[in-house]
Amino acid sequence: RTASLPDLNVLEDGILNGKRGVLARAITLIESNAEHHFRHAQEILHKLLPHSGQSLRIGITGVPGAGKSTFIESFGTYLCDAGLKVAVLAVDPSSSLSGGSILGDKTRMEQLSRNPNAFIRPSPSAGKLGGVHRKTRETVLLCEAAGFDVILVETVGVGQSEVIVRDMVDFFMLLTLTGAGDELQGMKKGIMELADAVIVNKADGSNKKLAEKTKAEYNRILHFLQPATKGWQTRAYTCSSVFNQGIPEIWKVIKMFEDTAKASGVFEERRRLQTKQWIHSMILDQLQFSFFYHPDIKPLLPKIENEVIAGNRTVTSAVEELFNIYSK
Ligand code: GDP
Repeated sequence: RTASLPDLNVLEDGILNGKRGVLARAITLIESNAEHHFRHAQEILHKLLPHSGQSLRIGITGVPGAGKSTFIESFGTYLCDAGLKVAVLAVDPSSSLSGGSILGDKTRMEQLSRNPNAFIRPSPSAGKLGGVHRKTRETVLLCEAAGFDVILVETVGVGQSEVIVRDMVDFFMLLTLTGAGDELQGMKKGIMELADAVIVNKADGSNKKLAEKTKAEYNRILHFLQPATKGWQTRAYTCSSVFNQGIPEIWKVIKMFEDTAKASGVFEERRRLQTKQWIHSMILDQLQFSFFYHPDIKPLLPKIENEVIAGNRTVTSAVEELFNIYSK
């Protein structure tokens, strides 16, 4: 069965030589929900692990329309022009439900996708062998082995996905819009507490003044929040992704963050912690899978659920019975 799979050495060489086509094939194996692809992908990862870890991993979140893809196009192109290799990945947990991905598709970043220094990959869909986070994390490692200096991980600002991305990046930024006065009040304080920078985008034309005002408001709020990274004060900045303004300044901030966090040890400490979290989240994934797909549990579960719904037994006794069967 494995005969049809791409040769391990060919994949390894191709990736280490930065061949984007080979990289894309390896990522497809990682994203596959077929067991033999998964095994093959793990072998590649194992070989490439010593070549990973050297990039700067940056997460970007924001509501739809905040300008994430426009920002990444501008920011990514700026970095490529500076001689860096940039990979753009996306985490879109909804993709497993909708069957498609709304993030990171090539048509949204046309200019960047044609840049020889860039590599853009849409969000994987979830699946039984670990969720989107497992696949994206492993893809980060492959991209690093392929020599990408900066990995941008984009996610849409809904629910869990911000936390998932925060847990896999070094620097996390929230892209936001101007004049969101009400939004600021009731605001996702939780998300601001995850961010190392808040970027007020679309600071151009008649919007520019308002953007400055919004920036000041964010800074006032940020001042009172717990910083996302020890020893780093999260601040707000403005930029215009369409007019490429404020983009070099944001890169400067990120480099300063890198220097500061590396000097204090916070950078390495976070990565260590992230690795532990990765292990734990994969254990949870596997447990979930092994439970719900257990040959004795799977057919029994609907029956027991119905008994509870009908009021014939308690949730606790139902779960207890299921676990007794599972651990038999
Ligand atoms: P996303 O959903 O967060 O990826 O947002 P998009 O990048 O698709 O941008 C949403 C809309 O805002 C598009 O019409 C963009 O052209 C526009 N937009 C994005 N960035 C800027 C900016 O810096 N200035 C202005 N004026 N418009 C922008």
